[in-house]
Amino acid sequence: MGGEAAHARGFAPHYQTMENLKSEIVKFAHLMYQKGYSIATDGNLSALRDDGNILITPAGFRKGEINENTLVVINQKGEKVEGTEEPSSEKWMHIYIYSVRPDVKAIIHAHPPYATAFSLQMPREYEPILPEMKMFIGKFGFVAYKEAGTLELAELVKEKAKKYNVLILQKHGIVTYGKSLSEAFNNLERLEFEIKIRALKNLFKFQL
Ligand SMILES: [Zn+2]
Repeated sequence: MGGEAAHARGFAPHYQTMENLKSEIVKFAHLMYQKGYSIATDGNLSALRDDGNILITPAGFRKGEINENTLVVINQKGEKVEGTEEPSSEKWMHIYIYSVRPDVKAIIHAHPPYATAFSLQMPREYEPILPEMKMFIGKFGFVAYKEAGTLELAELVKEKAKKYNVLILQKHGIVTYGKSLSEAFNNLERLEFEIKIRALKNLFKFQL
């Protein structure tokens, strides 16, 4: 377990300190919203603290509007240990991924439009087309549809996270992760770009 092959290939060294975890989550949450990778109150971000607790975005906030005071700390049982807001309803996906990937220190769940459209088809494993995707991430895994926020979805995500560095959730969105929020965000952008290029290449069907 632990996806040795996956993280041997997958992750360039990015490091985050405990001091900047809150500001990193806020920075990448705002960026995610500004770039249209999640709309309305969708999507969530988390980072693993040294004490084993998880800093996570709150439920019910647009990601462009959160600040450090709205973040929540939960333990591995899903209980809130710090914060005035409620944690994201997708907290179990985050907890379960950390439980099977000791190399992962940050997780982002988003609904970027191209990857979300791609997720409407039946799930299977895909080889990437783009070289950067092959180099940094490898194959991307599909997770069959389960209702958002459920333990059933978190269980399926956990199993696929052992093998893949990025996941597409059927009829829903994506989950990416890494050694830092920066790396998780890079993986989000690379995955969305890969799917966007797959869609756009269909515009160029030249006939000789
Ligand atoms: Zn979602």
